[in-house]
Amino acid sequence: MLNGIVVKAYNSYYYIQSGSKIVSCNLRGRFKKERFSLTVGDEVTYTMTGPDKGVIEEILPRRSILKRPLVANIDQVVLTFAAVNPDINPALVDRFLVVAEYSELDIIICINKTDLADLDAVSQLAGRYEQIGYKVLTAAAKAGTGIDTLRSLLYNKISVFAGPSGAGKSTLLNAIQPGLELTTGEVSHKIGRGKHTTRFAELLPLAGGGFVVDTPGFSFTEFNDMEAAHLMDYFPEIAAVAPACKFNTCLHYKEPQCAVKQAAADGRIHADRYQSYLEILTEIRENKKGY
Ligand code: GDP
Ligand code: ZN
Repeated sequence: MLNGIVVKAYNSYYYIQSGSKIVSCNLRGRFKKERFSLTVGDEVTYTMTGPDKGVIEEILPRRSILKRPLVANIDQVVLTFAAVNPDINPALVDRFLVVAEYSELDIIICINKTDLADLDAVSQLAGRYEQIGYKVLTAAAKAGTGIDTLRSLLYNKISVFAGPSGAGKSTLLNAIQPGLELTTGEVSHKIGRGKHTTRFAELLPLAGGGFVVDTPGFSFTEFNDMEAAHLMDYFPEIAAVAPACKFNTCLHYKEPQCAVKQAAADGRIHADRYQSYLEILTEIRENKKGY
């Protein structure tokens, strides 16, 4: 039995990469009902039925699943922001971080376009996230700065890029490996299709080993699925002090003797981060009221 990973799904064929070889596979009859659950990123075992053809025998257990785009076994997300143009917005960084934490992905923050930026401001902002425990990388994709480090972080992993449009995600990938570019999935609105066009993500193989998802990751609709009581779990520094709150149901909002509010007041938790927490908390609670 051979082992491989689904890199592309198309017309009920699954393209399985195994080493440097691609095999187009069907599912065994007994798996047909699982056809809708098998997805890009899944690891499978298969047997060959022709020179480049095979049949999938087993689907191996998943390590993770991301819903938008639908990809299994993603290891990490590279949250990419431009330091300037468009200027980095810490509140937006926090929103991406919350979705990434909720999706249980390892996180790399990449601050790009440092060639255009005030380096003191960049390192101050980087420090804010490093202090929480995040890995922060600075880069200037056009000049090739930071590319080797990023390439080494992608080695033998399945990674997805996310971040605002214009941050330089495509440029970074293309610098890592010429020819690798992201498809945005957002076809022009002028021809009346656009965001809702259904297409499956693909995995793009990296020359050194590993894959990158060809579509930038996730959307903030994930906030609809979150519970207010769990939001703190997606802010590691808030989760760390929350056990000291007087009430174990504390949402760190208006409750008395709240350790989180206290930590925000004396600067142990960054005021912007606490503000982001409160804003997202309010959104989640207002969403739930609608039901
Ligand atoms: P994406 O939407 O995140 O994929 O962003 P793109 O890769 O399309 O980049 C958006 C624009 O920023 C393009 O015009 C790039 O040439 C430019 N760009 C990307 N990286 C850098 C950088 O490091 N420095 C500068 N000055 N421009 C960059
Ligand atoms: Zn509290």
